[in-house]
Amino acid sequence: MKHLPYEGWLLSEEELTVEEERTLRMHLDSCAACSRLATALQAVEQEFTTIPLVAPAPGFGQRWQAALVEKTREAQIKRQRSLTWMFFALSALGALTIFVVLNLQFFSNLPTPVEFVTQAVYQMSLAISVGKSVLNLASVIREVLPLSIPLVVWIDITTAFCILCFVWIFAIWRLPISKRSTTK
Ligand SMILES: [Zn+2]
Repeated sequence: MKHLPYEGWLLSEEELTVEEERTLRMHLDSCAACSRLATALQAVEQEFTTIPLVAPAPGFGQRWQAALVEKTREAQIKRQRSLTWMFFALSALGALTIFVVLNLQFFSNLPTPVEFVTQAVYQMSLAISVGKSVLNLASVIREVLPLSIPLVVWIDITTAFCILCFVWIFAIWRLPISKRSTTK
C-alpha cells in the first residue's frame, strides 16, 4: 500500500506538480517495484512513439495527382463534348426555325401530299372517264356517219379532240392551285 500514490502518478496521464515529481523520483530511487513499473511504462510509451507510420508506396503522391489530373481532364473533355453537341443541336434548331419561318408563306401555298395525291387520283379518274366518253362518241359517230370518211380525217378529229381534252384537264388542274394562292 505504500506504493499507492506513486503507482497512481506513474499511470496517470495528468501532469504532476514539481513537488510530486520530486517525491516520485525519490521513491523510484528507493523502490524496485515502482522503478520497474516506470521503466516498463516508459518502454511502452517509447514503442508507441517510435512505431513508424505505414508509409505509402513510393510515387503514390505523384500517381494520385496524375490520376486526379487525368480525371479532371476527362471530365473537361466530356463537358466540352456535351457543350459542343448542345451548341450543334441549338444551331440546328435555330436554323430549322428560321428556315420554317422564312418558308412558311411559301409552304402554305403548296398542296400537302394528301391534297396532291387526291388531286392526282381525281384527275386520273376524270381522264379515264373522258377517254371512255371519247371512245363512245367515236363509235356513235362511226355508226351514224358513212364509212367513206378517210382515215386521215379520223386521225385529225381525234387529235383535235385530244388537244381540247388536254387543255380542259390542264385548266381544271391549275384552277384550284391558283385559287388557293390568291385567297391566302
Ligand atoms: Zn514503490
